[in-house]
Amino acid sequence: MGTIQPGMTRLTCIALVFALNACEGAPTKAPPDPGAPSVASVSPSTEPAAAEPAVEAVPESEPEPEPEPEPEPELFSWGHADLDPDNDNVLGPPAPLDDCEARLEAAGISFKPARIGVGKKVDGVYTCGAHQVVRVKRGPGNIAYNKNPLLTCTMALALADFERVAQEEAERLVGSRIKSIEHMGTFNCREMVNFDLLSEHSFANGIDLKKFVFANGESATVLDDFKPTVDQPEDPKTLFLRSLSNRLYDEQVFSVVVTPYFDHLHRNHIHVDLARYRVDGSRP
Ligand SMILES: [Zn+2]
Repeated sequence: MGTIQPGMTRLTCIALVFALNACEGAPTKAPPDPGAPSVASVSPSTEPAAAEPAVEAVPESEPEPEPEPEPEPELFSWGHADLDPDNDNVLGPPAPLDDCEARLEAAGISFKPARIGVGKKVDGVYTCGAHQVVRVKRGPGNIAYNKNPLLTCTMALALADFERVAQEEAERLVGSRIKSIEHMGTFNCREMVNFDLLSEHSFANGIDLKKFVFANGESATVLDDFKPTVDQPEDPKTLFLRSLSNRLYDEQVFSVVVTPYFDHLHRNHIHVDLARYRVDGSRP
């Protein structure tokens, strides 16, 4: 029988129609009719050329439109802040991205895949760790870190956006690019000090930025140069730290931006993370 065998795909079957006329419903040669006149020997099936499709028989027809090429997946995307108001109460590490490594490469990040333990679930929520983390070696802003940041993949992508904004603001306000950044950590299983909430640091989904060193030898520390009590600062380093913080929130680079304006705990660093809720601590 000409039935399709298990495992034979439709494509295979179509191929076989041409190759073997083997599939069900395919045209088959009629058995030779002994009584037929000898002109039957000029049946098209005996002519090799008859196998060619009769394309030339329709000369003036419109050419077949070129099939639209499959769009390349958009790997680079700006703004990783979580804007969904309905998931603000969801805690836990971010969902892994299928194409994390391709996205990191598209964002200009060199990195090493890394692993951190995922802690136990309490009430169905992971309290610590993440399923997909990388150690960032160098980002598109060519900034050196005192310790290569260990971050979730999404947070590493956000760090690439951060470097672009930070370099723009450094050039605009300080007149020099950032050479290096000192941070105070990314991954630390703990609750927030002032809130009964897991910190995003529990999931390697945040970073604490302490000091920026510029190519001209100057440096800006959050502790000395943010000056949260000064209303009209003129120091370019103060303007840099404040304007950078505003842009990181406004341009949705991070979900949460907390500065010395927010509380005393953040007097010496700018905390940024990708929580599912949003906090603008970049303003008084
Ligand atoms: Zn922090």
